Amino acid sequence: MKKIARVVVPMLLVFLISSSITYAYGLYGGSWSNPGSLKYWKDQSVTSYGYSSSTDNGLTNWNGVSSKVSISSTSTESSAEIKIYAGDINKDGVYADALNYSRNWLGQVTACWDCNYAASRIRINDPVSKKYNNQRISAVMAHEVGHSLGINHSAVTNALMYESIGSSNEARIWDDNAAIKAIYGN
Ligand SMILES: [Zn+2]
Repeated sequence: MKKIARVVVPMLLVFLISSSITYAYGLYGGSWSNPGSLKYWKDQSVTSYGYSSSTDNGLTNWNGVSSKVSISSTSTESSAEIKIYAGDINKDGVYADALNYSRNWLGQVTACWDCNYAASRIRINDPVSKKYNNQRISAVMAHEVGHSLGINHSAVTNALMYESIGSSNEARIWDDNAAIKAIYGN
């Protein structure tokens, strides 16, 4: 009995330790070919609805996690890959949404997640988001740009990329950081 315990207990410990560091992030399968020079542009609706600073906070949140990824602001719409709008998007209970697009050789865009990204659109749903403070909306925007980068939802409840944002997952954690590195490298 003692001998069995000496073997089984360490095996159990190894299992518990390895299972506790299992990542649970999801990836869409798509990515940007220029992750180091991504630009975002805010439509005037973002400022007029009062989301300018939380958008800036959220959109730059992932910078520095992977050395390959850098996102910065531009005031020139035509030079931006990621375009951000605010308004009533007719989606109950949703803070915001994101959609990515590829572009073919004719310049035509198609919505897709499992593709080479050429553009991304993020929409802030004002009827829901207006009820929350800047910290929450900054987290929401960081979550949405996580989608823009190619990251799907995580099963880890306190991950930024968990399917819903609350007070317990307003910041990136190890699982989110592992996701972006899995796509673009360290
Ligand atoms: Zn999401």
